[in-house]
Amino acid sequence: MIASALQAFQDASLRTERDVSLAERTSFRIGGKADLWVTPDSEDGICLAAEICTANEIPFFVIGKGSNLLADDDGFRGCVLSTENCTECRVNGTGVHASAGVSLTGLAVTVCNAGLSGFSFAYGIPGTVGGALLMNAGAYGGETADVVTSVFCYDPVEGTRLTLSREACEFGYRSSVFQKRNLIILGADFRLSPGNPEKIREEMKDYLQRRKDKQPLEYPSAGSVFRRYPGTYTSKLIDEAGLRGFQIGDAQVSEKHAGFIVNRGHATSAEVRQLISVIRDEIKRRFGIDIVCEIRTIPQTEL
Ligand SMILES: Cc1cc2nc3c(=O)[nH]c(=O)nc-3n(C[C@H](O)[C@H](O)[C@H](O)COP(=O)(O)OP(=O)(O)OC[C@H]3O[C@@H](n4cnc5c(N)ncnc54)[C@H](O)[C@@H]3O)c2cc1C
Repeated sequence: MIASALQAFQDASLRTERDVSLAERTSFRIGGKADLWVTPDSEDGICLAAEICTANEIPFFVIGKGSNLLADDDGFRGCVLSTENCTECRVNGTGVHASAGVSLTGLAVTVCNAGLSGFSFAYGIPGTVGGALLMNAGAYGGETADVVTSVFCYDPVEGTRLTLSREACEFGYRSSVFQKRNLIILGADFRLSPGNPEKIREEMKDYLQRRKDKQPLEYPSAGSVFRRYPGTYTSKLIDEAGLRGFQIGDAQVSEKHAGFIVNRGHATSAEVRQLISVIRDEIKRRFGIDIVCEIRTIPQTEL
C-alpha cells in the first residue's frame, strides 16, 4: 500500500519523504520515525494527499509545526501530512485569509504591517494557523476564536469540503470542535481592526520579552503541558507540590516554568508520559484536583 501511495503522491507532484524522524520535526525533539511525510503546498494539495492516503488505506496524521505534540518513541505507522508549505496569505481591508500552514508569528507580522490589530497575542506562539484553530491557541488575554470568522475544512471520510462559521467551531478554552471531529483544516478567514503598526509592534515586542522572561525557551518542549485549572494556574499547583525541577530520565519539570516539561537531552515519550503521570497523581493527592493535558500525541492517544 505504501508503494502505491508513493506512486500516487509522485504522480500528483506531492513532495514525499520516507522514514522521517519525528524528533527532528517536532519542538519537543522526541519521537521515532514516520513511514511517510508528505508536504502539499496548497489547500487543494492537502485534500489530494488525504484522498490518496484514504484510497490506499494508509492512516494519516495532520501536523502543523509540531509545537504542541508528543511523538511516540515508536514513531507513526502511516503518513504525516504536513501543512508547512501551505502558506498562502491574503489581506483585503480588515479581512485576512490564511492557509493552514501559515505561521502564527509570520501572520502577526503581516497583519501588523498592514495596520491591523487583534492578532498580536499570537506573536511568538510557535505554531501554525491550523494548529491554533484546533487548540484555540491564545496568550496575554487574546485567543484565536476572538478573530476568526470562518474555517475551511476537508472531511476525509466524506471526501467533501465544508466551511464552518465561528459558532460552529465551538471554541472554548484551548478547545474546539476540531478536537472532536475528524476534519482537516485547510485555512481560515479572520476579521481584524484598523490599528497603528508602531503601537502593535511595541505590543508584540513586549509579549515576546515576557515569553523570554518566563518560558524555558532554551530547551525543547511542547509549551504548557496542562490546561489551566479554573481559578488557578496549573504551574502554581505543580510548584506548590514541590515538583519544579523533578526529572525522569531526560524529561524534566522546567526549573523556570513548572507548567512546561522540557527535554534535557535525549528524553523519550515514555519518560514524558511517566512524568505526566507522577505530576497528575501528586496534584490529585495534595489538592484533590484532576489536571488535564493540553498537549496532543502522534499517533493520537489519551494522555
Ligand atoms: C515554547 C512554546 C510556547 C508556546 N506558547 C503557547 C501559548 O502561549 N499559547 C498557546 O495556546 N499555545 C502555546 N504553545 C503550544 C503550540 O504552539 C500551540 O498549541 C499551536 O497552536 C500549535 O500549532 P502547531 O501548528 O504547532 O500544531 P501541531 O503541534 O502541529 O498540532 C497540534 C494539533 O493540531 C492538529 N492540527 C494541526 N494542524 C492541523 C490542520 N491543518 N488540520 C487539522 N488538525 C491540525 C494536529 O493533528 C495536532 O492534534 C507553545 C508551544 C511552545 C513549544
